[in-house]
Amino acid sequence: MTSQASSFFFPAPRAQKFCSQCGTALRQLIPPDDNRLRDVCEHCGAVHYQNPRNVVGVLPIWHDKILLCRRAIEPRYDKWTLPAGFMELGETTAQGAMRETQEEAGAQIELGPLYTVIDVPHAEQVHFFYLARVLSEDLFPGPESLEAAFFALDEIPWDQLAFRTIITTLEHYLVDVRKGIFPMHHYDIPLDIPDPASGSLTSRHGKIDLD
Ligand SMILES: [Zn+2]
Repeated sequence: MTSQASSFFFPAPRAQKFCSQCGTALRQLIPPDDNRLRDVCEHCGAVHYQNPRNVVGVLPIWHDKILLCRRAIEPRYDKWTLPAGFMELGETTAQGAMRETQEEAGAQIELGPLYTVIDVPHAEQVHFFYLARVLSEDLFPGPESLEAAFFALDEIPWDQLAFRTIITTLEHYLVDVRKGIFPMHHYDIPLDIPDPASGSLTSRHGKIDLD
């Protein structure tokens, strides 16, 4: 069941104020045998660990074109992106990538090999993109996309792309297309690269960004 968009927001702050087990106010302290500050409940003992989130997506290829979606949601409303989103509990990275492609583009795809694995530590995320073959040019973009469309490689709207991991994944693809080989690329996005969309650095608190 979906709810009215105005009633909720994402994301809730990563730091937690109250215990998810008993509701007691939490304290930040380093638990025994640990080495980091955690949100700890001194009433029931629950430690609320926070860990990076996985973003899973697809680079969908239709003959000599790629499929992009124009975002209908913040952040980066109106910018173009590869189909991608947060991995859900209980699914694999491949299942999540296929689900996001269905939700955002309504495209029929055949999933290929894992293509980019990108660490984005300042956004507390790891991004995974699979190559995929689009099986039909029929697209049925869902509510998270204003539209979905195919782009020739020399028509990619570079200055209208939503996130740096989208840009770098497409940059690798353009190089690999010329070589005719598509190895997996693993790299990280450092904090000190200016953001192409805003021209500013991604804030430490800008955790709403997928990057
Ligand atoms: Zn508790």
